[in-house]
Amino acid sequence: MLAIRIHETGGAEKLRAEDIPVPSPRAGEIRFRVEAVGVNFIDTYHRSGLYKVELPHTLGQEAAGVVTAVGAGVTELRPGDRVATARANGAYAAETTVPAALAVRVPDSVSSALAAAVLLQGMTAHYLAGDTFPLKAGDTALVHAGAGGVGLLLIQIAKSRGARIIATVGNEEKAALARDAGADAVCLYTRENFAEAARAFSNGRGVDVAYDSVGRDTFEGTLNSLRPRGMFVSYGNASGPVPPFAPLVLSQKGSLFFTRPTLAHYTQTPAELNARAGELFDWMSSGRLRVRIGATYPLSAAAEAHRALEGRATTGKVLLIP
Ligand code: NDP
Repeated sequence: MLAIRIHETGGAEKLRAEDIPVPSPRAGEIRFRVEAVGVNFIDTYHRSGLYKVELPHTLGQEAAGVVTAVGAGVTELRPGDRVATARANGAYAAETTVPAALAVRVPDSVSSALAAAVLLQGMTAHYLAGDTFPLKAGDTALVHAGAGGVGLLLIQIAKSRGARIIATVGNEEKAALARDAGADAVCLYTRENFAEAARAFSNGRGVDVAYDSVGRDTFEGTLNSLRPRGMFVSYGNASGPVPPFAPLVLSQKGSLFFTRPTLAHYTQTPAELNARAGELFDWMSSGRLRVRIGATYPLSAAAEAHRALEGRATTGKVLLIP
């Protein structure tokens, strides 16, 4: 079967289309035929070496499709079931495996493309807005990269909780998308000072929470956007990781809270995973949450998808179709 693998870390040119054997599910695992693959920034980190993986490595964690085999001890899923996961053992492939406990059933109302488009970034937006800083009516939030995969979903979920949102984006087209998702204000942070915009947005006080997926380039400005005792949620590194800093800076900027969360710790049990995914699927079915698939590539063009994502040329979700 076709799989996209790396034998060494580096740029997008390291991705290789290879013919490898169809994997057998081990005990507790399922195998599924991949109908759609979700491309995520983390895939580029595995490829570049920012996050370590064992080599050779089949890229990809997020996919949806149809179960083709189950390993010993799996009773909750069977061949023919439609599933999705954000933790596949190599999703950039015609078929992949995953522990059954890390897969969710996809309801008939949600296509495999939309399931693969929403799961990882949607569950991220879900925990960021609902648990890391449980937004309530009237809270003010800064959302960086507001037209991105997590960004568009986070704006919608934050808005539905009654928060007021200022989003940052790289260009006018992205500004329109962020507004359409519900942002009350948008700042083109490539041209304007977003910390000043965030302070103006919150009547000079600073926002209650800042969701920062950009990392290195926005760290300083995000610190300056928050109100005293506000919460800095650093959940990504699209521009590079945040360099080490002294905790004292949090005191100087207003006794801030700082957290660096990751999805695995917010989907620790099958119950938590299924609750988050189930709520997202319900919201999609009822029209409360819109999922934007910004681009779709054939699996064999995965390198192109990586270049687009890293080059800030994408909006919403990027999918690969085997
Ligand atoms: P996006 O779709 O948001 O793409 C990244 C966006 O970041 C770009 O489109 C761009 O938007 C902005 N950006 C700003 N500076 C740069 C730069 N120098 N290079 C590239 N992009 C830049 O990606 P995702 O929604 O998939 O993920 C965003 C981040 O969140 C990633 O770091 C990812 O790893 C992380 N993440 C973390 C999770 C967690 O649980 N902690 C889970 C999911 C994602 P613009 O042009 O508008 O500036």
